[in-house]
Amino acid sequence: MKLEYIYLDNAATTIPLENRLAKRTFIANPSSSHLLGRQARKFLDDTKMLLCDKFGGKPYNYIFNSGATESANFIIQGICKHIISRGLERNEIIISEIEHPAIFNTAKKMESLGFKVRVIPVDSNGVIKIEDALAFLNQRTAMVCVMSVNNETGVIQPLNSLFSRIKDFSKNIITVCDAVQAVFKGVTLPLLTHTDCFFASGHKIGANKGIGFLYMNAGVFVEPLMYGGGQEEGLRSGTENMDGIDSLHDSIMYHTQNEENIKIHLKDLSGKLYSCLNELGIVFSVNTSDAEKSDYIHSVSFDNLPSAQLAEFLSINGIFVSRGSACSSTSTQTSRVLSAMGLNMQCISSTIRISFSPLNHVHEVELLCNKISEFKNSRL
Ligand code: PLP
Repeated sequence: MKLEYIYLDNAATTIPLENRLAKRTFIANPSSSHLLGRQARKFLDDTKMLLCDKFGGKPYNYIFNSGATESANFIIQGICKHIISRGLERNEIIISEIEHPAIFNTAKKMESLGFKVRVIPVDSNGVIKIEDALAFLNQRTAMVCVMSVNNETGVIQPLNSLFSRIKDFSKNIITVCDAVQAVFKGVTLPLLTHTDCFFASGHKIGANKGIGFLYMNAGVFVEPLMYGGGQEEGLRSGTENMDGIDSLHDSIMYHTQNEENIKIHLKDLSGKLYSCLNELGIVFSVNTSDAEKSDYIHSVSFDNLPSAQLAEFLSINGIFVSRGSACSSTSTQTSRVLSAMGLNMQCISSTIRISFSPLNHVHEVELLCNKISEFKNSRL
């Protein structure tokens, strides 16, 4: 498939992988006991084994669902409902200031059920303040939910250290990692010895929309969001999305088989972005210059270039970037993430997010930089 445009909004969603193997057709329901049903079940189980090989755990630790928003709701609402039903005295939830709305808004919603939400601040590079997070811990803390890689800035959070220190404080506190922008994007997840849950969406890694997976430690007790046929360990009823699982399977294979090459390629794309902007004399600042970052997501502010107009100019020219996360770019609200980092309004309103996938090419990055230069010159 030859694309007539340059797509650099991969943190919002990716273009499905071109090299999908011949699409398998699963006619049968994986819960059916006949041969076709058993074939579908085997494929589903094999896909869970691929996840075990990559991230650890056992197949029963993995639940397929519709994606990260569902996982965030399932975990937070499910744990809260369980706590209420058992009359447990754990009514505090800790999240970070930069969580995706899937976590942020779900946690906030729990306030109406009597839960208290404590919010970890970030520093000027968008890194959570570990000591502040630890200071929130107490005997009422039910769970701590922090993302691995921020979807607006690409900043990698020090989760391994945070989660291990939380578990040192109390093994009962459930640690939850939103791993959407980390899995199969070159970032190591926190160790499972101190991570109870992590989750991701297939469409961020070249699989279909509407498929995702959640890892959950067997010691985590949740009330299901949906009741029905008891699929997925009784936690997520409903016939499994076999087309989605099929696409996720291929995506996992693609990323696993090409891991090293993809890593080098993403480094090339990132390096090219900054070297090209410099060569063209474009004044820019990386909003997270001193943080450990993913090569997939870049939050860049351009001196005196309003992001709304710049993004529109690029879009008219067939180059698609984002002004923030996909969930916030259509709203008139200022980015919660960039505000939390203490950036001023001028910087925020001149920030765009450029996000890559392994399918991008270095020459696309050159074309992007040339167009930014053209836009800048048109305003002189
Ligand atoms: N968490 C992060 C970090 C994300 O980037 C996103 C999507 O942008 C989500 C959660 C929600 O994912 P989905 O829309 O696939 O449910």
